[in-house]
Amino acid sequence: MDRIYLDYAATTPLDPQVLEAMSPYFTQIFGNPSSNHYFGQQAEAVLETCRTKVASLLGAQAEDVLFTASGSEGDNLAVKGAAFAQRNARGADTVLISPVEHPAVANSAKQLRNEFGFKLIELKTDKAGAVLAEDLHAQLAQNQVAVVSVIYANNEIGTINDVETLGAICAEQQVPFHTDAVQACAYLPIDLQQQKIDLLSFAAHKFYGPKGVGALLRRGTPLISHTSGGKQEHKLRAGTHNVPGIVGLTKALELALQRQPQEVARLSPLRDRIIQTACAEISGCQLTGSAQNRLPNHVSLLFDEISGNDLVIMLDMAGFACSSGSACKVGDPKPSKVILALGYPAEESLGSLRVTLGKDTTADDVDRFLEYLPVAVKKLRK
Ligand SMILES: *Cc1c(COP(=O)(O)O)cnc(C)c1O
Repeated sequence: MDRIYLDYAATTPLDPQVLEAMSPYFTQIFGNPSSNHYFGQQAEAVLETCRTKVASLLGAQAEDVLFTASGSEGDNLAVKGAAFAQRNARGADTVLISPVEHPAVANSAKQLRNEFGFKLIELKTDKAGAVLAEDLHAQLAQNQVAVVSVIYANNEIGTINDVETLGAICAEQQVPFHTDAVQACAYLPIDLQQQKIDLLSFAAHKFYGPKGVGALLRRGTPLISHTSGGKQEHKLRAGTHNVPGIVGLTKALELALQRQPQEVARLSPLRDRIIQTACAEISGCQLTGSAQNRLPNHVSLLFDEISGNDLVIMLDMAGFACSSGSACKVGDPKPSKVILALGYPAEESLGSLRVTLGKDTTADDVDRFLEYLPVAVKKLRK
C-alpha cells in the first residue's frame, strides 16, 4: 500500500542533508565538550559554532541560546525557571498562560499552581483561540505576574498568536514573556532583535531535524534551573551535550529558514484546498481555529456525529496518517482541552481531525486524501 503521511505537526522525517551533517559527530568527533583535551575541545568548537549559527538565524546572541533535549524541556525550563526566579526576586506569584497551550506549558503551569503555590490565570482568547491583548493588559494590571507564556502557533488548531504585540505589552510591565514556537519555527518569522520575546522554545524534530534535541532562546531573563549537575548551558541545564543532535538541529534550522518562503507559498494553497473541499462536500464539517491566521501547513476540522479517533483509524487503514487533536493524546477518548477552550460542547469536540502537511506532500496526495475523506466520514456515520 502507498502510505501518505499527513501528520507533520507530530514529527517529521530527518532530512538526508541533516543526517549527513550529523554523521561525523557520532563516531569521529565524539569528545565531551566539557573535557579539556583535544577531543573535548574539538566537540566544544563545533558546539559553539552551532550556538553562534542558531543565534544569527533567529536574531539572537550566542549567549542567548540554551540547547535542550526537547521542546518540552525548553517549555518547562522557561515557565518554571522564570516563575521561580521572579518569585525569589520580587515576590511575583501569578502565572498567565493561554487556554490553548501545549501540555508542556499547560502542565508546567498547573504544577506551579498545585505544588508550588502560584496563582494560575488563563487569558481570554477570540473564537479562533488567539489571545486578546486587552485581557493581557488587564491581567498584568491586576496581578503580580511572574511569567506570561503564550504559544506562537497552536499545534492542534493552527492559530497564530500576535506574539509581537503580546511581548511588547509584557515588556512595558517588565514581566518575562515566553512563547512556545515549536510549531511556528519553520513557518513564521522569528527575529529576537525585532520581537520583544524574552524566552522562546523550539525542537528540531518538527522541522526535519533529529528527535530529542531543542533550544530555548533566552534574552537575559533569570531562570532557576531544574536540572542540577555540571556547568553546561550557563549552569541551567546539566548533562553532557548531545553534539550530533545539536549539529542536526543547526543544519535543520538553516534549511528550514532557507526553504520557508517557497514552502509557505506551496503549502498554503494545498491547506486551503483541503479546508474548502472538506467543508463544502461533507455535511456537518467545520474548520477549527482561524481561516486566515493559521499555520500554512495546518488543517483542523470538526465532524458532527463521529469520533475523531475512529476517523483517524479508518484513514490509517486506507493509508492516510493523520491525527485527532494532539499526537500526545492517542488512545485517550477525552475531548481535547484546546478544542473545548474554543467553546465547542464536549460531544462535538470529540470529532476533531488534524491534517498537517510538509515537504513531501504533493497535490496528488491531497487529491487522494480528499477523495477518500468523505467516504470515511460517511462510513462512520452509518
Ligand atoms: C511537539 C510540540 C512540543 C513538544 O516538543 P518535544 O520536542 O516533542 O518535546 C511542544 N509544543 C508544541 C507546540 C509542539 O507542537
